[in-house]
Amino acid sequence: VSKEKTYNPPSWVGPGKIRWVWGLWEPMIFYRRLGHQSGTVEGGTHWAEDWYERMHSEETVQWLADLGVNCLTTHYYKGFGLKGEAHEMERTKEFTELCHKHGIRVFAYHQLGTLIYETLLDEVPNARDWRQVDHDGRTKLYGKTVYWRWTGCQQNPEYWAYVKKVIRQAIEVAKVDGIQYDGFSYECHCKICQQKFREFLKEKYPTPEASLARFGLRTLDHVRIPPDNIQSKIWDPLVQEVQRFRRQAMADALRELYLFIKELNPEVAVANNEGWPRQKMSNQNQVLNIPLTGKWQDVLVAESSDFPHVSEHEMTTKILYYKIGNALDRTVQPTMWLHKETGGIVAPEKPEQERLAIAEAAAFGGHWAGATWALRPRNKGRNVAVNVTPELEDAVGSYFNFLKDHESLFEGAKPIANVALYFSYESHAFDFRETYPCVMGVKQILIQSQVPFGLVFSDYREQLEDYDIIILANQTCLSDEEARLFIELAEKGKGLLITGQTARHDENLRERGEDLLALTRGMPNVIWVKGAPECIPWEKDSLPQILPTKAAEFEDMLRMLMRAVGCELPVQVNGVTACVGVDVHRLASGALTVHLLNYRNDQPVQNVSLLLSSRFAQCTKAVCYDPDAEGPVELKIVEGEQSRIVDLYSLQTYAVIHFT
Ligand SMILES: [Zn+2]
Repeated sequence: VSKEKTYNPPSWVGPGKIRWVWGLWEPMIFYRRLGHQSGTVEGGTHWAEDWYERMHSEETVQWLADLGVNCLTTHYYKGFGLKGEAHEMERTKEFTELCHKHGIRVFAYHQLGTLIYETLLDEVPNARDWRQVDHDGRTKLYGKTVYWRWTGCQQNPEYWAYVKKVIRQAIEVAKVDGIQYDGFSYECHCKICQQKFREFLKEKYPTPEASLARFGLRTLDHVRIPPDNIQSKIWDPLVQEVQRFRRQAMADALRELYLFIKELNPEVAVANNEGWPRQKMSNQNQVLNIPLTGKWQDVLVAESSDFPHVSEHEMTTKILYYKIGNALDRTVQPTMWLHKETGGIVAPEKPEQERLAIAEAAAFGGHWAGATWALRPRNKGRNVAVNVTPELEDAVGSYFNFLKDHESLFEGAKPIANVALYFSYESHAFDFRETYPCVMGVKQILIQSQVPFGLVFSDYREQLEDYDIIILANQTCLSDEEARLFIELAEKGKGLLITGQTARHDENLRERGEDLLALTRGMPNVIWVKGAPECIPWEKDSLPQILPTKAAEFEDMLRMLMRAVGCELPVQVNGVTACVGVDVHRLASGALTVHLLNYRNDQPVQNVSLLLSSRFAQCTKAVCYDPDAEGPVELKIVEGEQSRIVDLYSLQTYAVIHFT
């Protein structure tokens, strides 16, 4: 039996430690090859190179350090090959030296899914063998249509060995502090993958009886990976198994790289862009890989267009991503964009938008203060997005420096919540359209009614023990084992709020003949909700972040359940609108922090008050830190009739109240 060494994320990426910007993670040659703009960088221009040179200068690095930046991600490997990209890699090495001189850590961008054959074939004549191919053997292209970007198959050992060679060079030669992967997608049908898939099936279903029962097939020798046409309801047992296979294969591929990097240097941090979750209806949302793949990265990159803001009907937040990080004990690097009404993406144009985005990451677990937009060129490269106006620059600088000066407010922060939202893998993977809008509806209700909550993935169901109330929002596909666990939890006195068709099917979407959770019906600590009032209706193919119409009804049931179980929220926030978010953390020192965030931060909220739960019984001192205020202010803890109360006079964008 081999004993595998385990690693934890290096402490320098821990809660409250990072103020990050995008530091040009695409090399200039990429923009040249593309010939037009990408990520609001106008590549097809005469001035792009001047901007690119200037961004690599010491003057820029010094300016970033003054803004409070202590980490960035820059280009290293885009897929052109070690030879095709050599001069840009040399530049990264010099740039990293400059960054280190000014106290900035550097992540090297590493594209995992792109083979730019036009140069790569010059170095690797058989790179064609590394391609991901579809069901008909055709090359899988990046974004389906970018003809000069083949995608690489991570299950190909030769390609993976090459990837390691690149990583080793980034760490040993360019001396970067972290590796950041992008483009990690996998839907391959190559020979290797077909073979691995059959092996996976045979291990799981080793006898003819087993494969007959599961697939109606006496032999699995000729089975092939089904075409990629993911439906929202997946009945086909082979399509179900390929989902499971790919999830495990992706985790294994990342694991191999992770252990390789950690053996080189455990202080090198590993980040990965999972591309999940998105608001769009997509199979990315459906596959729920992160519980397995998340173990093999130190930082979760959350790329999306979920820029926090409030519009007429919608309150968009990035809280879900931060909670995923909390559930996996990882910090999150947020990268996000505002959407223009005319289509396309845009950097924030108002200081309050920047403040909100930076503070949100801090408030929900001490995640990375990030500005992915900051250095994108404006005014033909004479400015960058963050210094188009002094007000924009000041907003980022003041928030970054506030966080720099108050790292101790996040030291070892662990969220405190007694409500858990359960994510069953199979319900998402096989019955996505039923499950996902309900989970997202509950998420929205909890956020907008100031209930701190945590996520529990079915892969880590032992974490349910940490909560008093568990919400099963239309989790239609539960295994017998899961059902038994929920009955046991209910018998122990945990509160269950169960909606819709939960447990109607088994873990393979087969409908059950009996109600597996029948034992819980009638228990005072279990509420069964008819229908699914928390469900958010799909709009075309995206899911808006809106309160479901029956949010109040759902919230009432939750409060009722809390009374029945005899638990109380860590804090109750009074005097606020639905646009204020709250989170509560315990620090390594034992101190408690309450984080309040006003999503409608163009107008302050007046007279906010906090009702403290018994968790705060030992606290005698409350100090409020607000990045927009002159300095910290001590608040009075008043003995109320039923609980102790702290009053805040005004909440502009963000406040942290530190209790000792
Ligand atoms: Zn393959």
